[in-house]
Amino acid sequence: MNNAIAPSYDVVVVGGGPSGAIAARLLALENVKVAVFERNERFSIRVGESLMPRAYDMVQELGLGARMAEVSHVAKLGASFGFGDDKALKRIAFTDGLSKGGANAYNVDRASFDEMLLDAARDAGAEVHRGCSVQSIEKLEDDAVEVMVGGQRVRASMLVDASGANTLVARHLGHRKSIPEFRNFAYYAHYTGVKRGEGLSAGDVVVIMCDEGWFWLIPIDETRTSVGFVVDVAFAKNPEFLRSTFSNGRWRGLRRSGAAVKTPSGRARSAPGPTSATLASPTRVRDISFAATPRFLSTRYFRRASASA
Ligand SMILES: Cc1cc2nc3c(=O)[nH]c(=O)nc-3n(C[C@H](O)[C@H](O)[C@H](O)COP(=O)(O)OP(=O)(O)OC[C@H]3O[C@@H](n4cnc5c(N)ncnc54)[C@H](O)[C@@H]3O)c2cc1C
Repeated sequence: MNNAIAPSYDVVVVGGGPSGAIAARLLALENVKVAVFERNERFSIRVGESLMPRAYDMVQELGLGARMAEVSHVAKLGASFGFGDDKALKRIAFTDGLSKGGANAYNVDRASFDEMLLDAARDAGAEVHRGCSVQSIEKLEDDAVEVMVGGQRVRASMLVDASGANTLVARHLGHRKSIPEFRNFAYYAHYTGVKRGEGLSAGDVVVIMCDEGWFWLIPIDETRTSVGFVVDVAFAKNPEFLRSTFSNGRWRGLRRSGAAVKTPSGRARSAPGPTSATLASPTRVRDISFAATPRFLSTRYFRRASASA
């Protein structure tokens, strides 16, 4: 249950996704009076499931390695790509990466992962308010921030905008711009029965390119695989494309029987194997391409945006 919202905090964090939860945990561990406002009561299916090795290292650095056992996840040691007309996937292991980072990563069920991180923020002493949307920014000055939450005015010395693609501060300041030549939509759902690679590649994210965009297959636990399709807005808004993509036999995977084993163009790609049931209707993420600069706006407040797939 949420505590009552206080009239003021040292820091207000907008958004309880990974950025907000981690920021709040670190601040609370430094005895900063911090509140996180997250508009969702509980998290459900979300994008951002295939993490990079740096995220694995951060989980350890945050002291949350043991808590990862509670999170639905799969060990990820590399990525496999299907380009052009190649029938075979090209695999890249993190051990062969150019950077000197770690060789381990996770694919996660984001609902489970995000709940764990937010619990960890609360356990560190942060106030976490769920089902609480920050409706507006009333004041945004160094050492003097005011936001409206549920009709209540809340003051703070500092604001952390961790609202993700919502980009609360960038919208408030009019800095958010879509990127017209790079406008994408994404459709995704979780499936069971998707055949996986074997051995070291079993946890790989699989990325398949096609004429209309690209799609991902991400194993997120022993049985479920996330399948997503990122497509140019011109296709996504074309009724004929949508009909052929989502309802005929060529690519009905996202709607019915399994993952995308053929691209809409019919060329190429056999992602690794046959599939069975979808667990839910595909979710659509609209307009995922935007920029919001400058990224750091002041010594006292900043925004954190996330836009790319
Ligand atoms: C289609 C797509 C696929 C992606 N795939 C991957 C991937 O495979 N791997 C990867 O690493 N990244 C991926 N990403 C990027 C990834 O989703 C983000 O980098 C990540 O979620 C950023 O975390 P965050 O905490 O900054 O924001 P989010 O996870 O978006 O969290 C923001 C939170 O703020 C809350 N919120 C927003 N506005 C308000 C408000 N006004 N008041 C209160 N709460 C608010 C939201 O409810 C949300 O919980 C993908 C992105 C897209 C669009």
